[in-house]
Amino acid sequence: MTAAPAKKRLRWQVILSIVLVLFGLSKITHGIGIVMLIVGLALAYWGYTRLRYNQNVWPQLYSDWQLKFLCNKCGTVFVNQPSYTSPADEEVASTVE
Ligand SMILES: [Zn+2]
Repeated sequence: MTAAPAKKRLRWQVILSIVLVLFGLSKITHGIGIVMLIVGLALAYWGYTRLRYNQNVWPQLYSDWQLKFLCNKCGTVFVNQPSYTSPADEEVASTVE
């Protein structure tokens, strides 16, 4: 995978759930109003789970992706670890000092 991980979209879930809940409440005495209200609330909950994904899961996926690089010669994806220093590097550093 080379593309950045995508956030989950939730705009239409939010709009549709608000519309369904409002229409459902305005027609609450009819059967269709209750159905609309239930569907609207289910949609709102689905949107909420997508919001939680964007807030809790996506940031880690994105920061993992930020550390990955694709080699244009061989197509290998490798992970850059800025904090990592190999024992060989430390040896060189101590020799210099
Ligand atoms: Zn390569």
